[in-house]
Order: sequence, then structure tokens, then C-alpha cells
Amino acid sequence: MAKINTVLGPISSDDLGLVLAHEHIVAAYPGWECDPLSRPYDRERIASICLRSIEPVKAYGVNSIVDATPADLSRDVEVMKRVSEQAGINIICSTGRYTEEEGKWAYLKQRAGAGVGDMRTELYDGFMHEITQGIGASGVKPGVIKVATGRSRITPLEEAMLGAAARASRETGTPVITHTEDGTMGPEQADILIGEGADPDRIMIGHMCGNPSLQYQMDVLSRGVSISFDRFGIELFLPDRVRTAVLAGLLAAGYAGRIMISQDFIGCVFGRGGSLAFEVALKMANWSFINIFRNIIPALKQAGITEEQIKTMTVDNPRRLLGGA
Ligand SMILES: [Zn+2]
Repeated sequence: MAKINTVLGPISSDDLGLVLAHEHIVAAYPGWECDPLSRPYDRERIASICLRSIEPVKAYGVNSIVDATPADLSRDVEVMKRVSEQAGINIICSTGRYTEEEGKWAYLKQRAGAGVGDMRTELYDGFMHEITQGIGASGVKPGVIKVATGRSRITPLEEAMLGAAARASRETGTPVITHTEDGTMGPEQADILIGEGADPDRIMIGHMCGNPSLQYQMDVLSRGVSISFDRFGIELFLPDRVRTAVLAGLLAAGYAGRIMISQDFIGCVFGRGGSLAFEVALKMANWSFINIFRNIIPALKQAGITEEQIKTMTVDNPRRLLGGA
């Protein structure tokens, strides 16, 4: 039994139950706050929108959600606290940063450019501060470190972020979860994290379902890390039936103990409202906090995947990743 930090305080890893391993309560790409037409930030309203989208998970027995929102994608622990309290669901939040291309790096780059600080040390200090002291004045401590790299390359800055995360993970036992662009650079992320001292048992390489190659998946898994198939419903990038077929293949090959499933859904996106183009909306129609229960798990079962394997992916693996036992 280990203690896991949730937004409402520490709980026992035995109480995690069924876990969605990579979702977002709220998130937004940097820049929404500069759009004069953005909707105003109304925390009350945002929390109620999130609550509405989360409520349905309870019917499927979900007990806990890992919120993978890094600091620079408008993470809001106050909204998470409200949603957790009102929905009765554990929420584990992240310290960490997003990709160089899409995160908020101007401030750190300016400091490093002026010779004030070294990027890697400043990132490490920041991760450690949130892990040991909490996020801002909220008192909330993160339960995971989220790091991210861009498509088909890892920039020096992103490598510094991975190194800082590995060191903080090694020293505090906090697991590292990652963002890859459609699975690219998965093996490289694992190699850097492990090379910098992170325990493979505490690493989950994310968005791997974006890559349909079984051989590529096994290449990442051969490092001893876990992977997540966490974008079910984002069919704009890849159809769910392809993700499901690859997952069924990996399960048949005996990898149930190293895979987690989730949806990368966002309860509320900030910024300007509006509707998606018809073709896009059509490809995102199943995206929600409950797509895996409504569509993916039934399809896996039809493919011969057992209840036991599903439980391994949704209960046992997250417990081991988050709690180390
Ligand atoms: Zn995500």
C-alpha cells in the first residue's frame, strides 16, 4: 500500500480502483487568453461543464482520473478540486511541461538566454517545488510528472525537460507520464528517462495508440516501461478500429501488464466557442470520457480479450505505476 497524491489529499493506492490514466479536466492551448473573443474565465461555469461531462463515468465504475494537463496548458487545480468533490472521483494532477512547439517557453528561454538560469535546473527545481510544497497556494500536490516531445524529434529543451523529470522522479518516486506526437520518439523518450535514472516501472509513454506498428510498440515495451493507448475517440488522427486492433494484438502477445487505456478527453476547453467543421466533427463523434466503455472494451471482448485483461489495464497497471506496488 502506497500513498497517492490526489487534488483532495493523499489516498491509499488500494483506493484508486478503476483509473482513466490520461485525461484532462480542463485544458487549453496557450494563446486563448489573448483572444479578445474568448469567453471570460468563469470558474463556476467551467466546473459545472466539467462535472456534466464527467458524471457519466460513474455508471462504468470509474474511481480515479489522472489529469495529464501540464502547467503551461492552463492547468487549474481549483476546478479539479471542485469536480473531484462534487463527482466523488479521485483526480490525480500533474506537474510538468508541454512540447517546445506548443507549450509556454518564452519566460524560461529568456532567463536562460540572459544567463540567469540553466533550463534543466530550473525545470527540476520547479517540478520538485510542486511535488514537495504543492502547486501555488492551493496546497495540492501532483501525483505524476507530465513531459512532452514534438513530432519525430526531441529538441535540446525537451531533452532537458525529460532529464529534469527523470531526476525528480528518481528522488521522489513520482511517476513520469509522457506525451508523444502519435507515438513518435517513444523509444527515445524511454531511453532518455531511463538513462537519467528513472525507474522503468514508473514510466508511462503516452499516445502510443497513434502508431499502428506492432513492432514499434514492442520496441518501446522492450525498455520495460508501460505505454498508454489513450486517444480512443480522436479518430481525426487514426480510426478507433485501428487502435483497437493493435491493442488486441499486443494483448494477444502477452503485454496486458504494461498497457493502460484512456481517451485524452478534455472536460472543458477555454477560449472561443464555435463548432467544428462537419468532417472533423464526424471523426470526433465518439470522443468522451466514456468511449472506452461504450465502444472499445466491447470490441476488445469480441476479439477475445478477457475481463481479467481489461482489469489488468484499468486497475492493476495504474495502481502499480502510481503507487509503485
Ligand atoms: Zn493529454
